[in-house]
Amino acid sequence: MLDIVIIGGGPIGLYAGVLASLHNLNGIIFEARDVKGGQLNLYPEKTVIDLPGHLSLTADEFEKLMEKQLLEKPNHPEIHMCESVDTFVKDGDHYIVKTREGEYQTRTILIASGMGNAQPRKPGLPGEDQYKNIIYALRDKSLCEGKKVVILGGGDSAVDMANLVVDLTASLSIVHRRNEFRAQSSSVEKLKASRAKIYVPYNTTALIGKDDRLTGVEITNNETQEKKILEADLLFVNFGMVPAQNDFPLEKNGMNIVTYDFFMTSLENVFAVGNTINYPGKVKNITCGMGEAVVAVTKIDQIINPGKNIPVHF
Ligand SMILES: Cc1cc2nc3c(=O)[nH]c(=O)nc-3n(C[C@H](O)[C@H](O)[C@H](O)COP(=O)(O)OP(=O)(O)OC[C@H]3O[C@@H](n4cnc5c(N)ncnc54)[C@H](O)[C@@H]3O)c2cc1C
Repeated sequence: MLDIVIIGGGPIGLYAGVLASLHNLNGIIFEARDVKGGQLNLYPEKTVIDLPGHLSLTADEFEKLMEKQLLEKPNHPEIHMCESVDTFVKDGDHYIVKTREGEYQTRTILIASGMGNAQPRKPGLPGEDQYKNIIYALRDKSLCEGKKVVILGGGDSAVDMANLVVDLTASLSIVHRRNEFRAQSSSVEKLKASRAKIYVPYNTTALIGKDDRLTGVEITNNETQEKKILEADLLFVNFGMVPAQNDFPLEKNGMNIVTYDFFMTSLENVFAVGNTINYPGKVKNITCGMGEAVVAVTKIDQIINPGKNIPVHF
């Protein structure tokens, strides 16, 4: 019988695994994908500047540190990669967690499934799946070196990526359908001061290419209907992710799992933390989710070990 099953190997699930080791709980982390780190894989080269004590750390470096911190604990939870949790059912005083690979008995569950099995939102234009030089996440910025890069999107991710690679590129164009970017104003200022060419308010109306290579995009001004062709060696689409939430049998508010005291869900001894939950004041970032994991795992230790003097510092 496991003490804890952690669903999701994103930053919050990995940190919950570290906490479970410190609390000496035996468990398993299930991660549906073949990579750990969840959304950190969407912006691996971005410098994350709001982590305590880290002045300059890329998301990829942060993920590797998280993994190291977890794996160096001799009693860390087992990590089952490429094993998605389908559902769980109550069975007396415990739960049976079901995956395609098997069934696991556990006293408690901590859901840290973020956006679920999210997929990038695509523009839906003809040729999109045929061209190999269209990307939805930038795993290696050297891919942009000396290239004519076109970025689509106007949120933080699009603007951050544009700022990150603009000086490596032969040219960089960023196309956004609205007049105003939705990114942080300091990032937008930086973008405007760079040599990036900004096209607003433009929609991408056609992809141009031959065989499996995209060579350009047609964009159309939303107000004047004027069309332009932008040459492209690489198209980076940044329209966010389409969440594909899990259908776990518990109370939800829209896409988000509802939680109560200690981040327990509507089911006894099933907890949820990180980006999969929402409540007034919730901030969907790494440190907020990690604080929730501290509360939930401490409570789980109390449930598993009633009467134990639960450690607060390690
Ligand atoms: C472009 C961008 C930039 C960002 N920049 C910052 C920043 O600078 N600072 C900051 O603090 N935050 C930032 N964030 C937000 C931050 O990445 C998220 O808050 C954080 O990743 C949430 O972590 P999580 O573990 O809750 O969820 P996720 O990162 O979404 O991870 C969830 C994991 O659970 C897995 N999973 C889902 N369902 C199942 C299942 N049924 N079975 C098994 N596994 C499952 C998924 O595959 C995934 O790996 C940024 C986000 C984006 C998109």
